[in-house]
Amino acid sequence: MAALDAELIRCRACPRLVEWREETARVKRKAFQDWDYWGRPVPGWGPPDAALAIVGLAPAAHGGNRTGRMFTGDRSGDVLFAALNDVGLASQPTSTARDDGLELRGVRVTAPVHCAPPANKPTPEERLTCRPWLTRELQLLRPTLRAVVVLGAFGWQALLPSLAEAGWEVPRPLPAFGHGAHSRLTDSRGAPDLHLLGCYHVSQQNTFTGRLTPTMLRDVLRHAAALAGLPEGGERLEG
Ligand code: SF4
Repeated sequence: MAALDAELIRCRACPRLVEWREETARVKRKAFQDWDYWGRPVPGWGPPDAALAIVGLAPAAHGGNRTGRMFTGDRSGDVLFAALNDVGLASQPTSTARDDGLELRGVRVTAPVHCAPPANKPTPEERLTCRPWLTRELQLLRPTLRAVVVLGAFGWQALLPSLAEAGWEVPRPLPAFGHGAHSRLTDSRGAPDLHLLGCYHVSQQNTFTGRLTPTMLRDVLRHAAALAGLPEGGERLEG
């Protein structure tokens, strides 16, 4: 996994995204003028033998693209890691920098697009171009991966082809995204099934409006942790 990540962070395959991630890193947001922005593809993170994956869509321009870690340094991450900590899957409730000491327990956080896109919207071509990175990551996780929580419909649509390429049997018609959607994918080599769970994205658009409440998010994470064979909530990691 480390070799994959080292290769990934040098990728320049999408001209529009390379330009955007680097320009954002140069111009910076006023509040982060002191930061040396990452400005490169953001790899997934968490143990390489994770039983549970959390899949978003792409890093945020001033979040992951600044800190170099998925969901780190933005409001969406604040919501996600507070919930992961509450259910015992993260060592602390905040995620602010790559060296902040946060550890994930049995969970890897990743995305189907690894560079921050303008307006948080990668094009279909960019999603296609980036897909092999996620496929390779899933192939490496496959021996231990038992559940995936997908945050949002775009991530769901982008993930399904990678799951198929990585060796799981994706049902036809394709399973539809919804909050609480649950689909079970068989492994083409006879390994245990993979549980695919849908969850509304942790964006402010959803959390501020109450479309995704703290309870809804924690319920999905607890369910996924149980399906993945991870200890259920209440048992916190020491920070
Ligand atoms: Fe490479 Fe993916 Fe970034 Fe495109 S989005 S430049 S494929 S890492």
